[in-house]
Amino acid sequence: MPNYSFKCRDCENKFSISAKMSEIGEDLEVECPECGSDDVFQSFDGIGIMSCNSSGSAAFS
Ligand SMILES: [Zn+2]
Repeated sequence: MPNYSFKCRDCENKFSISAKMSEIGEDLEVECPECGSDDVFQSFDGIGIMSCNSSGSAAFS
């Protein structure tokens, strides 16, 4: 399960959680573990997200 980086707008704390992409995109409630604020945004710096690209790889014969 991948980790996602978040940053809190209130206290600027950076933290990471592990969750599925579907949970991130829907109704996952992320709270800052420092101040409990839910005013957080996803931060992509320093995180390498591997995208699975399966198009055009027809190597089977
Ligand atoms: Zn905070």
